Amino acid sequence: MTQRERKTTIIGAGLVGALLATLLAQRGFAVDVFERRPDPRKAGYAGGRSINLALAERGLHGLRVAGLTDEVMRLAVMMRGRMVHHRDGHIELLRYGRDDSEVIWSISRGGLNVALIDAAQKAGAHLHFDRRLLSAEFGEQDVSLRFHDDSADSVHEHTAASVIGADGAGSALRGAMNAKTPLGERIEELGHGYKELEIPALPNFPSISLPPAAAAALARGETCAIERNALHIWPRGNYMCIALPNAEGSFTVTLFMPGQGDPSFATVSTGAEARALFERDFADAAPLIPDLEQDFAANPTGVLATLYLDRWHVHGRALLVGDAAHAIVPFHGQGMNCGFEDAVELADLLDAHADDTPWAFAEFERRRRPNAEAIATMALENYVEMRDSVADAGFLLRRELGRVLAERHPDRFVPRYSMVTFTRMPYAQAFARGAIQDALLRELSNGKQGIAEIDLAQADALVRARLTSLE
Ligand code: FAD
Repeated sequence: MTQRERKTTIIGAGLVGALLATLLAQRGFAVDVFERRPDPRKAGYAGGRSINLALAERGLHGLRVAGLTDEVMRLAVMMRGRMVHHRDGHIELLRYGRDDSEVIWSISRGGLNVALIDAAQKAGAHLHFDRRLLSAEFGEQDVSLRFHDDSADSVHEHTAASVIGADGAGSALRGAMNAKTPLGERIEELGHGYKELEIPALPNFPSISLPPAAAAALARGETCAIERNALHIWPRGNYMCIALPNAEGSFTVTLFMPGQGDPSFATVSTGAEARALFERDFADAAPLIPDLEQDFAANPTGVLATLYLDRWHVHGRALLVGDAAHAIVPFHGQGMNCGFEDAVELADLLDAHADDTPWAFAEFERRRRPNAEAIATMALENYVEMRDSVADAGFLLRRELGRVLAERHPDRFVPRYSMVTFTRMPYAQAFARGAIQDALLRELSNGKQGIAEIDLAQADALVRARLTSLE
């Protein structure tokens, strides 16, 4: 294996690029990473979207392989389940898993990205900030890359044997690859957007606007205006709000709403209209967001879309990973988790086959693309479940029956959410087993009002007949 072969160039030091750089540098690769933004450790983190993220088993595994769990988990807040805020003011916790061993974690995007960039550098990767990829030319032997330094207004060049694009949903490398060899790109917009708002930590609340329950919590010395260890959700049919906790006691609230219709980002476009919407539909959250009008007006409305590609690599010269290859909607909290799985899989493949990068790139796509397509579908389906079905009686009965069957058949019946969130079973397998389970739950609960009406002996027989044992 020659030195040239154990060299890698990565575009993008976001979450996936920085983890991949760490894993490859730890395996002895000479790694160059080119990132459009300035160094966030000096300039401060300029993320642009989703202030915090849900980290689950697949993402945690990537951090474990890189030896970063202890450091990163210090930044994380446990979320035991969905805290559902119903229209009538009733609030209930729907646990994600069986106990506190099956939880997800809220983590600051900026904190995590900085930790990963630090780790990449410590492992020996060379990070080049202020390098925005402008173009890539694919030759017989190598790739010529041109970058722009937006702060110094200068152009820089770099030549590599091959290049990996971790430059996110709007990937410039993907654009260059597509121009060389069509990748079969399809971008399906969801037609719904999002807006981020904030519930401040109690000590930072303007005191005049503190509602009584929050004032009492502050008097007890607490920092959170709502339950800290949960992902809060206000399902409202065609739209919803969620809130994820931040370590210092604030919550990042995200309003998801269609672009058209009523209500939508077309009918709710000013701070005052947003305040009116919250007072009508998210009444318990409204008084906890003191800067709602200003934040609604100042923060951008995010666009949500799914990216599908028929090819992720070009002639062994270039490969896409993470959002650059498979951006998905955020409703399963899996985009980064899936990207971290990419990073582990690719680092292992390149390590084992450094003498045959084209084969490693093709094999990576063969292994990962069906899984990326499965999580893309499940993420879209989860939006309907989150904004709508969590408040629906049929869904709640199926969910309860699912839990009963999971207890009776822990080796066969595992809720799809759990397979995706708490295991590393390939997404495509979780999707296929989930479809069998869902059909079974619908069949058994059809026309039933409660769990007592369901014939569990029949259910047991069906589970054994239709689902293979996972052990
Ligand atoms: P990015 O994080 O987008 O990083 C790309 C990097 O490339 C950036 O640093 C960028 O500056 C750089 N770059 C871009 N263009 C260039 C260029 N031309 N030259 C050089 N550098 C460039 N995932 C979860 O797992 N859990 C969640 O709870 C979750 N919540 C989300 C909520 C929202 C609202 C959104 C939008 C996404 C959410 N995601 C979540 C998805 C997650 O954000 C992405 O999957 C993840 O950020 C992908 O990482 P990445 O490194 O591939 O891309």
